Amino acid sequence: MKNNIYVTQPYLPPLNEFIPFLEKIWKNKWLTNNGPFHQELEEKLCEYLGVKHISLFTNGTIALVTALQALRITGEVITTPYTFVATAHSLQWNNIKPVFVDIDPGTCNLDPEKIEESITPQTSAILAVHCYGNPCEVERIQEIADIYGLKVIYDAAHAFGVRYKEESLLVHGDMSVLSFHATKVFNTFEGGAIVCPDAKTKQRIDFLKNFGFADEVTVVASGINGKMSEVNAAFGLLQLQYIDDVVSTRKKVDGKYRKGLNGVKGIELMSINENVAGNASYFPIFVSQEYELSRDELYEQMKEHCVYGRRYFYPLISDMPMYRGLESATKKRLIKSNEVAEKVICLPIYSGIDDIDVERVIALIAR
Ligand SMILES: *Cc1c(COP(=O)(O)O)cnc(C)c1O
Repeated sequence: MKNNIYVTQPYLPPLNEFIPFLEKIWKNKWLTNNGPFHQELEEKLCEYLGVKHISLFTNGTIALVTALQALRITGEVITTPYTFVATAHSLQWNNIKPVFVDIDPGTCNLDPEKIEESITPQTSAILAVHCYGNPCEVERIQEIADIYGLKVIYDAAHAFGVRYKEESLLVHGDMSVLSFHATKVFNTFEGGAIVCPDAKTKQRIDFLKNFGFADEVTVVASGINGKMSEVNAAFGLLQLQYIDDVVSTRKKVDGKYRKGLNGVKGIELMSINENVAGNASYFPIFVSQEYELSRDELYEQMKEHCVYGRRYFYPLISDMPMYRGLESATKKRLIKSNEVAEKVICLPIYSGIDDIDVERVIALIAR
């Protein structure tokens, strides 16, 4: 019997190492609301990531919703259809109209050259995604935002620890949002964070995630409950001790796939950007017409052999019932996004995957 190989598996540090953290929580009975582990994780993440301020959240989606609130974004926001649904949903939950703009197939990120033609008097921000941890064209996006007076928010759910031109990718834009969901490179079971450049902004974010409380009797905004608990923060601290190993083992898997699949007719890989120190969070392949099977035939055949790739991101958000009626969702505006969504399969990549399993995946594709 062959074992199942899933697209990802969470990294779990040794259980016995987590017990002392729990004992501390039991002892001091501080379970949530900016407890000691919460404070420590914020500090350690700032240090590890190389950012100034971070505010932890219960998950990445609430962090996205809150980031938009913190910046008082309204009207229309330019965004990508080629991402996880939470990106567009966070706009919808703020009564903001998503305006979909096509991607650059080389990075799977928003194509900056197509942003300007979609700006209207109602546009207030650009919500871009560093898809697969590939940096957006941050300089170009900032230039456009400056000209038109727009805010820039990055959905950096895939970009934990990614460095661009020798500094954290997360320093770009007005805010970056991380997800620490179980399936991400760095996880706290469920969790997320907002990265921002100044203390005042962090304070507003901290009020917003705690119902808008500024102090015991003062409520300054219609905030939400977005707080991360002490158990999740403690797990994050333990996980952080292992993150460098996790990323380096992922990178080895990435290297094996590149070597094994390089030159397979009809299989295209993401190209390497010299300016980026990535996190090997995903390994997408793009199945072109040249390949002997269609993308879906390959996907099904892999499944028959117990290899569960995922078609991230298919279907496009712009094809989902709650968005497909938008003018910006039409296929002729989103040609590249549609093409890529029809070609992609993300291969299994995680730190505990066996060499033999990686070979099995390669053999299935290289045939
Ligand atoms: C995972 C993910 C999210 C949502 O994060 P959660 O922590 O699961 O709420 C948002 N955007 C992208 C691109 C993601 O991959």
